[in-house]
Amino acid sequence: MSEETWLARAVELATANVADGGGPFGAVIVRDGVLVAEGRNHVTRDLDPTAHAEVTAIRAACTTLATFELSGCVLYTSCEPCPLCLSASLWARLDRVVYAADRDDAARGGFDDRAFYELFDRPRSEWSMTVAQVATADAAAPFDAWLAHEDRTAY
Ligand SMILES: [Zn+2]
Repeated sequence: MSEETWLARAVELATANVADGGGPFGAVIVRDGVLVAEGRNHVTRDLDPTAHAEVTAIRAACTTLATFELSGCVLYTSCEPCPLCLSASLWARLDRVVYAADRDDAARGGFDDRAFYELFDRPRSEWSMTVAQVATADAAAPFDAWLAHEDRTAY
């Protein structure tokens, strides 16, 4: 199947999700030309602000493939991934991300994707949400424990 076909499926999921009361976002994950998983935006249904279509697709694909990383897979999404989903795609080690609509289309629909991208380009001192470090004495202890744990599963 062509990339346009997978994108069409993602857009179809996104549009159907609106009729089902969800946000207008859909995604599919494909490996070697075969569908692995689909995802829809479930933010309002699940009361989960991280349940974006790309994230739900990544979670479903990992469950299907019984893994925590998706190298060899491609994510097709109805809209340009927001910073959350782009980061999730990086953590998932996806090979490629392909999207249909862009951040400007999302902004027109009332979604913050573009605003968040612009926020990351500004100093945190200008953010309305404070992000602060309080470097406690034991702050590095979890990493010491991690490095000392010989049976750790690296990811
Ligand atoms: Zn997102």
